[in-house]
Amino acid sequence: MNLFNKDSPEFLVISGPCAIESHSQLQSVLNSEVTPSLIRGGIYKMRTKKSSFQGLGPEGIEIIKNLKKTRPFKFITEITDPRQIDSLLPVIDCFQVGARNMYNYELLKELSRLNKPVLLKRGFSATINEWLGATDYLSDLGEENIYLCERGIRTFETKLRNTLDLGAVMYLKKNHPFKVFVDPSHAMGDSKYVVQASLAALASGADGILVEVHPQPNQALSDPEQALDLKMYQELIHKLGRACPIFEKKLRV
Ligand code: PEP
Ligand code: MN
Repeated sequence: MNLFNKDSPEFLVISGPCAIESHSQLQSVLNSEVTPSLIRGGIYKMRTKKSSFQGLGPEGIEIIKNLKKTRPFKFITEITDPRQIDSLLPVIDCFQVGARNMYNYELLKELSRLNKPVLLKRGFSATINEWLGATDYLSDLGEENIYLCERGIRTFETKLRNTLDLGAVMYLKKNHPFKVFVDPSHAMGDSKYVVQASLAALASGADGILVEVHPQPNQALSDPEQALDLKMYQELIHKLGRACPIFEKKLRV
């Protein structure tokens, strides 16, 4: 059930749109020259405004089911309510718990009973200790199946969407057994910083990134500013491919 291969240290790139919008949108990402095999994509979105796109729900699940018939890939999506478990289980390889739900201990308890890894985002203003506290609710999964994801925190600084706390990544990697991801997209909030932030994540010791990619970012129904287009995505993978050997990691896309 683990996304990582045990033999060698890997750097995983989980990529895809903020939200799944259509079969053709996701297929365009899958068909990009990078040929990704670890895909993210929101099906149930927790939007700040109720009038914003809330995700395709069951239609999104069907899109993944159909695409999985045509080619192999691992899929990770955010679960926002335990009532989604039964329908998501057959199509997902890892559950994502979003920043808004890091403190939703009942949801974490439900996920700890299942046989899938969980990627636990850091809450907007969560301390490292609060974040680690939340991992206790998942401990039945085994530490190798709990992935932390630093996605930027709220600080006094407002120039960027969030403040990317790479110090937290360094701290966690030195002191705890969990795999740690970085989400450069939500941390920076602007695609022009995403490649650099991803390289910085690799240098900080992260085990991978969760990055937003969209075939036409300016038409994205959520987070259009921060999504990489397919050309930038290719550039990202090319640069990570060159940098990974320096950090003795094997790149897996
Ligand atoms: C996401 O990854 O699409 C997302 C909503 O992230 P976060 O929970 O970190 O805001
Ligand atoms: Mn998003």
